[in-house]
Amino acid sequence: MPSLDGDKSVGVERRTFLQQLALGGVALGAASGLTAAAPETLHAAAAIKRHKRLGTTDIRMADISFGGSRLRGDGNLVYYALDKGINYFDTAESYTGGNSETIIGQALQGKRDQVYIASKGGFGPHVRQGQMMHTLEGSLRRLRTDYIDVYFTHAVNDLRRVQNPEFHAFTERAKEQGKIRYVGLSGHGGRLIECLDAAIDSGKFDVMLVAYNFGQDPSFVQRLTRRFDFIAVNPDLPRVLRKAKAAGMGVIAMKTLRGAKLNDMEPYQKDGATFSQAAFRWVLTNDDVDALIVTMRSPRDIDEFLVASGGTKVTRRDVDLLERYVTLNDGTYCRPLCDACESSCPENVQIADVLRHKMYFEDYGAERMAMEGYAKLAHNAAACAECTHQRCLGSCPYGLSVPELTRQAHRLLHWG
Ligand code: SF4
Ligand code: SF4
Repeated sequence: MPSLDGDKSVGVERRTFLQQLALGGVALGAASGLTAAAPETLHAAAAIKRHKRLGTTDIRMADISFGGSRLRGDGNLVYYALDKGINYFDTAESYTGGNSETIIGQALQGKRDQVYIASKGGFGPHVRQGQMMHTLEGSLRRLRTDYIDVYFTHAVNDLRRVQNPEFHAFTERAKEQGKIRYVGLSGHGGRLIECLDAAIDSGKFDVMLVAYNFGQDPSFVQRLTRRFDFIAVNPDLPRVLRKAKAAGMGVIAMKTLRGAKLNDMEPYQKDGATFSQAAFRWVLTNDDVDALIVTMRSPRDIDEFLVASGGTKVTRRDVDLLERYVTLNDGTYCRPLCDACESSCPENVQIADVLRHKMYFEDYGAERMAMEGYAKLAHNAAACAECTHQRCLGSCPYGLSVPELTRQAHRLLHWG
């Protein structure tokens, strides 16, 4: 297994910042513990500067690690990431139809002892352990390895999946056979908190991969409520992260860019300091988070993202960028860990899932993945085109116009 140094403690500055906010301090600067950022060029310091221990596992992973959800083509991007110090590669059997695993497997062949590989299987509540093992073995073949470091049950939003005895029998057997080392769960749905609580209480999971970004921090949000009609999506999430940390679970954040509407931010990014870096620093200065993964599509992405590695401060300029982003985008951003509107629809449209795939298409640029995922939804937004009652109208506490957005989503995503 790789052994890398650099588990430095972070978060003092973050705590200072949050204390200032709790005291009602909106004036930033020296007194708040924030510092004005030094100008950074896009490529400056574009390398991993910190590896952190993942919970109580023996994994020491790059604080900004490789998300392979859109990996296609050859392994050059994987080599590039590796060269920059990234040693943790996240994929799933479902990503790019299995190609993501295949590319990572090819690229990392001969380097297995230098890296950690995580993958995922989408196991519904009624899937039997034999089928799960079959899925895992497919991943191992594509990844050209005989073990996966962290194996996740993917996109969990249902307690029955967390508690499924078949899943636990499967993971125990896979561990005994040396096919997986640690067990994780990932998720971003409206019932994730109860799933995470149950997972921690069970003691059967080693790692969680969870949607977490600056907009889910109640302290950050509190300050913004002075200027925006904007409330925390899930004030319980920080509590769950703390609880996981206390229980020794590893915590990896994803969806840290709050929708990744990056083009909108270009006019406000000065001297190479970008919104992405600000959003990453926000996440990484939370002591309860060990690391984050983010989809990397190009060497340019990697160069930009890794500037934030090792970040121990949220700067004044970071906060300005995050606030700007909220101002520009929150009118159309469907929050992870929310399903407040879903019971309003008599047609059972999976509104949050529909809008998540719209985000993948429009903001992540992952058109094919979005359309394929949308096609698999049991209740997509086909009903919205002809819907006259629009009972979902006004059901979103964040003011999103659900019927308008779901109709747009269906036009965009269905194979017509
Ligand atoms: S527009 Fe109609 S069908 Fe579509 S989500 Fe709203 S209530 Fe449901
Ligand atoms: S549309 Fe609004 S209420 Fe519905 S899931 Fe998204 S953020 Fe939550």
